[in-house]
Order: sequence, then C-alpha cells, then structure tokens
Amino acid sequence: MTHPLSPHPTEHRPVVIVGAGPAGLAVGNILRAAGVDCVVLEAESRRFIETRPRAGIIEQWAVRELERRGLADNLLERAETHTECEFRFDGERYRLSYGELTELRHYVYPQPLLVTDLVREYADVRGGDIRFGVRDVALHDLDTQWPSVSYVCPGTGERRVIRCDAVAGCDGARGVSRDALEPGRARIARHDYGIGWLALLAEAPPSSDCVLFGVHPRGFAGHMPRSPEVTRYYLQCPPGDDPENWSDERVWAELRERLGVTEEQPLIEGRLIEKRVLDMHNYVVEPMVFGRLFLAGDAAHLTAPIAAKGMNLALHDAFLLGDALVAYLTRGDESGLDGYSRACLRRVWDYQEFSQWLSDIYHGAASGDPFLAGTTLARLRRLFTSPAAASAFAEQYLGSAAGF
Ligand code: FAD
Repeated sequence: MTHPLSPHPTEHRPVVIVGAGPAGLAVGNILRAAGVDCVVLEAESRRFIETRPRAGIIEQWAVRELERRGLADNLLERAETHTECEFRFDGERYRLSYGELTELRHYVYPQPLLVTDLVREYADVRGGDIRFGVRDVALHDLDTQWPSVSYVCPGTGERRVIRCDAVAGCDGARGVSRDALEPGRARIARHDYGIGWLALLAEAPPSSDCVLFGVHPRGFAGHMPRSPEVTRYYLQCPPGDDPENWSDERVWAELRERLGVTEEQPLIEGRLIEKRVLDMHNYVVEPMVFGRLFLAGDAAHLTAPIAAKGMNLALHDAFLLGDALVAYLTRGDESGLDGYSRACLRRVWDYQEFSQWLSDIYHGAASGDPFLAGTTLARLRRLFTSPAAASAFAEQYLGSAAGF
C-alpha cells in the first residue's frame, strides 16, 4: 500500500517512538526485550545524543528498575553513590545524611553515559531499528485506529511514512509530539519561577564528596559532582541572562562567594566547558494521552532541574509505557494503557510540588523580600533541628514515598 504522503510502499511497525532520550530509549529496550517490533526516530546524530551533557542524578528505585530490565550493568559498575548533601548558608555548612534516614542512595551517572548504554543495548544488542538525523517528523491520524508518523529521510530528502498501532512521543521539551495534541483535549498547566540558572560544566574534580547547595543573599549556587574529572555548577541569575555576561573570572568569584563557609577548602577550578542560561519553568500536560499518542518524559512534563527530577520522571513514564504497550500488543490487555496517564501523573505532581518547595528555599534569601527571606531560612533551619522535617525532605529528595 502507498500512503498519499509517500512515494514508497507504507511500512508498518507496532510502535513508533519519537526521540532517543532516556524515555524513548528505555521504551524501545522494553519493547525489544518482549520481542515487540518498533522504530525510534531521532532528529540528532548518535554521536550528538551520546555526548549531550545534562542530568546526572538517578534515584535508587529507577536504578533498580533499570537493573531488573538488564539496563544497568555499566551504571552499577561505574556510578558513584551519594548518601549526603550539604546546605551552606550564613557562612556555615550543614550536612544532611539522607542515606541514614532512608537507607537509600542516589546514583551519580551522567546522562550521556546512560544514553550511550541504552542506545548500545537497543540497537547493537537487542537489534532495534533506530534512524538518526530524521527531519520534519509529523504525526498523523492519532485519534484513529490507523495512526502514522512521517519524516524526511536525511539521505534522500524523501518523506517516509510509518503506519503503527501506537506512537510514543518521547521527543523532549522542544519536540513535535506535544504540538499534535488537539486544543481542548488536553490541559497544559504551567509555572514560571521567574528565575534563571547559569548551568556550568567545569573540567575540574568535585570540590566536595557530595552535592552542595549554597543559599545566599546574592542568589543560589549549586555544586554537583558528575565524575572524578567533571563537576556541574549552577548560579542563579536573571532569567534570559546572556552567558556572555559571565566571564570565567566572574563565575568563579561568584561561586566562591555563594558557596563560601568559614573553614573552607577552596573550590577546585577548571576550564568551563558549558555555560548556558536555563529559565526555570515547569509544565504538565494532562492527560498524557491523545488517541494513540502516548507522551513520556519532558514531552509531557518539564521539571526545572531544581530537585534533579526530570530524568527520573522520564524513566518512570518509560517503564510504565513500555510495560503497558507490551501487555497490549502481546496479550491484547489495554488496562496499562488506559491507566498510563493517571499512574505517571501521581509521581509527576509530587515531584513538581517538591521542586517548588525547594525552589523557595534556594531562592528566598535573594528574593529581595525580607519576609520571604525570613520564612524560607526558617524552613531551611528546620531541616537541621527537626528529625521529622529532615526525614520528609529525605523521602522526597529520593522519590521514595510509598504509593506511586
Ligand atoms: P530528552 O532527553 O530531551 O530526549 C528527547 C530526544 O528527542 C532528544 O534526543 C531530541 O534530540 C529528540 N527530538 C527532539 N525533537 C525531535 C523531533 N522533532 N523528531 C525526532 N527527535 C526529536 N534530570 C534529573 O533527573 N537529574 C538531574 O540531575 C538533571 N539535571 C539536569 C541538568 C540540566 C542542565 C538539564 C537541561 C536537565 C537536567 N535534568 C535532570 C533533566 C533531564 O535532562 C531531562 O528531564 C531528560 O533528558 C528527559 O528525558 P527525555 O527522554 O524525556 O527527553
């Protein structure tokens, strides 16, 4: 059969996955493990996605799920684990041992390494079809029994069409899947913090054995170990600020000031290999389903990196969606797909709420509002005076609350 959009005979695959980030690749791997045929369409090259720096902190429940699906061998061998974080304010350091409170840990494993592992497993081990460099992806007839996805082939410039039973929209915050939602069929809830973060990657060993949060009247500063050679830093800045305004000297001076404590070891400085401004905003699409389109990860919900939650949520969606598609396509069981959006959104909203709560703590001191500065500092101090407050923080920081 030839589709009107394509001069080629139309291909059919049970599932088309748009986007090869953590969400799309995890879904693809789950489908391939169950023998379900699928294709992943990715706009960038393999090299690009395997080197794009972003997240680095994975929660223990997500690691266990990856392990259960045979996707965590390298991670378990190479990742460092963290059980403590440190807040710095009023010139003092305050350690919070969330591992002791919960017996759980964070895994520090840079996103490019996870993506590299997932691509290799999907394409090279499980024999999955992945097409890199595709252009102008478009979704069609999503609200019918015959949805399809078309794209322009990078080699020939021709438009190809793939008919399918379901589309997994995993193309992140700037993809096309979310735009395919019909107005009136989905609600997009948005929240803008009105704050920017200068996101930095330094070719320098971490300056501490754990994540540091600097709460300072000049603005928030963060230190996140990524590997023995690379450290991520953040500096609060005006939204829309130009990274050119931040010379290397200014960056290090500001980090020293905002992360400074009285008895301090100096920060270990190094070449800054990434410097970009992120405007802190969130959104949630409800429901995450439109006809035969199932959104997953940042395509469905964005969580500013305030609480390091985005990749964890993307993986959570992917586990649920992968299993639900397998149940549907191998056994005709639609219950997982029917409950997919509701099941994802419980964790999504919980993490959004925690990010908002944490944002107040990080940014209150620099808000210019003395009342907010006072109350958020009280909230921060409570973490170190009330074991109940510390336990609640630990549970949310690790995403370990029961009931998801
Ligand atoms: P993505 O990783 O964005 O993948 C989407 C893929 O789709 C991409 O490969 C893209 O090229 C492709 N694509 C886009 N459009 C198209 C199209 N039209 N056609 C085909 N392909 C397309 N999260 C954490 O959990 N912990 C952290 O510590 C953390 N730190 C972060 C730090 C920074 C600086 C940033 C920016 C984010 C951070 N995050 C963190 C968030 C995390 O990186 C994202 O939530 C995660 O990448 C989402 O995965 P995804 O698969 O949904 O989307």
